[in-house]
Amino acid sequence: MSQTSPLNQVLLHPDRRFGADLETWLIDIGGEGLEKAIQAPDEILPTIRTANLLGLGGSGFPTHVKWEFIANESNDQDKYLICNGNEDEPGTFKDRILLQETPHQVIEGAMITALATGANQIVFYINPDQTESLEAMKEAVNQWDETQYINQISTLLGRPLEFYVVASSGHYIGGEETAAIESIEGKFPFPRGKPPYPAQQGLFGLPTLINNTETLANVSHIMRNGAEWYINQGAGAAHGTKIFSLSGDVLRPGAYELPMGTPLDELIYTHGGGMLLDRKLKAVFTGGPSNTILTPRDLDVPLDFDSVQERRSSLGTGAMIVISEGTGIVRRVTEYVSFFANSSCGQCPSCKTGTYYASQLLSRIDSGNGTRADLDTLINLTRILPGSGRCHLLDGAMKLLDSSLYHFMNEYEQPLRRN
Ligand code: SF4
Repeated sequence: MSQTSPLNQVLLHPDRRFGADLETWLIDIGGEGLEKAIQAPDEILPTIRTANLLGLGGSGFPTHVKWEFIANESNDQDKYLICNGNEDEPGTFKDRILLQETPHQVIEGAMITALATGANQIVFYINPDQTESLEAMKEAVNQWDETQYINQISTLLGRPLEFYVVASSGHYIGGEETAAIESIEGKFPFPRGKPPYPAQQGLFGLPTLINNTETLANVSHIMRNGAEWYINQGAGAAHGTKIFSLSGDVLRPGAYELPMGTPLDELIYTHGGGMLLDRKLKAVFTGGPSNTILTPRDLDVPLDFDSVQERRSSLGTGAMIVISEGTGIVRRVTEYVSFFANSSCGQCPSCKTGTYYASQLLSRIDSGNGTRADLDTLINLTRILPGSGRCHLLDGAMKLLDSSLYHFMNEYEQPLRRN
């Protein structure tokens, strides 16, 4: 097992009382990053670029590149920033904690982002089932509204800075960027075709930047402490920290903020307390069900975007669903693919029929009624369907299926009917 690295709690600070009340937040930690940003708005983007803050909602895309698209759009119009807190992926619960317990660091990060990009309309887009997050954000936004910061930023932007707290439609697919835009506009969250991209034509036809909650939560800390500090929070070549949503067959499930690049075995056996009932580890579904699988052979993998990808997997949102020996992989994948079939918005025929068909084949194989032809069809689906849908849902379902076939083909073959 690897060495323990110190818990690196920047976003999930052990004293979470700073999260609830603005006055306390500004005394303890907050405000400093924002004041630096107000004094030198031109320094924000270069600082975030040097820190190499990545999109922590699963994309791992460089944040500064996304910001630059919006910053380059004309400032003679309203621009939107959407803080994406839809978080509906099974096994992922980090954003809910941030919004509920530390709303001010999210809002301060969003205000700094506004200064960097010229976005003066900030929308906090939150899963409606997370009522405490919604309430916490409404209350927190009201507290900021009474500060001098709003006027200062509005003056710098040349347009009034305004906040909105919006409940999403509650659909899984509503977390997709363009679906979020549709949802905020009051429509069903159908993902849009691209182009046009949100940066040019997003919410109400205006330039729109969408960042994940965890990504924004990091911004005020980077501005306060500097890019070098952020880089040094990571393990090895990775930068910053990551909140891992650890669940499944571990003794201590929960949200753990650790250096990005912390090895998988350290997350499970040190912070997570090891396997439940001392069972043997069988697999880890990374990034929730729309991703891939790691196996005990990968226990040494540093949990950062590049390293996990080198193991034919992906980090995704940082959700780690731990599975012990004795759990049937085919049954678990069947449940997840059925979830995707039920969550498909139905506008792409390949997704609507493909996820449904895959879930039917999986059920047949899992119940012992599948044939070799069913399995071959399933394998074919993982080859022909990716890339044929408008959004990531179809690709995510196929990625999971492909990964499970790659690692656990024997479990698919074993229950096949012989005739
Ligand atoms: Fe809807 Fe699926 Fe198409 Fe995404 S891939 S837009 S969920 S039908």
